[in-house]
Amino acid sequence: MSTLEIKDLQVSIETQEGSKPILKGVDLTINSGEIHAVMGPNGSGKSTLAYTIAGHPRYQVDGGSITFDGQDVLAMSVDERARAGVFLAMQYPVEIPGVTVSNFLRTAKTAIDGEAPQLRPWITSVREAMTDLRMDSTFSERNVNEGFSGGEKKRHEILQLELLQPRLAVLDETDSGLDVDALRIVSEGVNRVKAKTDMGVLLITHYTRILRYIEPDFVHVFVDGKVAEQGGKELAQRLEDEGYDRFLKAGV
Ligand code: ADP
Ligand code: MG
Ligand code: MG
Repeated sequence: MSTLEIKDLQVSIETQEGSKPILKGVDLTINSGEIHAVMGPNGSGKSTLAYTIAGHPRYQVDGGSITFDGQDVLAMSVDERARAGVFLAMQYPVEIPGVTVSNFLRTAKTAIDGEAPQLRPWITSVREAMTDLRMDSTFSERNVNEGFSGGEKKRHEILQLELLQPRLAVLDETDSGLDVDALRIVSEGVNRVKAKTDMGVLLITHYTRILRYIEPDFVHVFVDGKVAEQGGKELAQRLEDEGYDRFLKAGV
């Protein structure tokens, strides 16, 4: 079993007007096999949380801690975090000109495992994963995220998830910009990997729609850099009915 433990996390970013506090004391514990949905209005700090877990240098940790099975995540480099099994699917995945999907995946796998995967079984796994995600085989020879549609970018993130099999997946608005068919395929992919590996999932989303396909064990409502309320999946239903207004008006 793996546990990610976030305690009283405070994070700021450097802006032109100086340092701006974004996360103002976040507590969150995710065990393997659990799906935690973090929901909240735009600008509440959801992506900041995701990037901070993954180790993006822009985000300055002012206080609190993140541990993974007791190891100090904040002391690890981005690579060390990936090797420990932490995976981030970014809200806005970046282009990597000149690097094909196929090479990118193999390089990532090699970096995480510390050795290159055996070629034949690897090719078979890539092919199977792409078929599961209804991706055309020519996709693997395209450059990472170059000219990808929104749906292709998100499928590519789930393809990485399938092949890298992390212990903790942080999925930042993986549902945004997907039509219903793509949403279902992407959600099935997440559920499939979770069933195979018992990974923990931190599913960040603005909308309740994806939670019909990926059923959360816990829902955390994020407002102004803090968890304003938490509950089970029934909380998602309430958010769908009532929106975030109640939380915003309460000025939490
Ligand atoms: P969310 O993902 O919930 O929409 P973010 O974590 O992206 O929220 O942003 C939280 C806050 O931090 C917002 O007020 C946003 O304007 C600010 N912020 C995030 N990134 C930057 C940045 N690169 N420069 C300035 N402000 C930023
Ligand atoms: Mg946003
Ligand atoms: Mg965001």
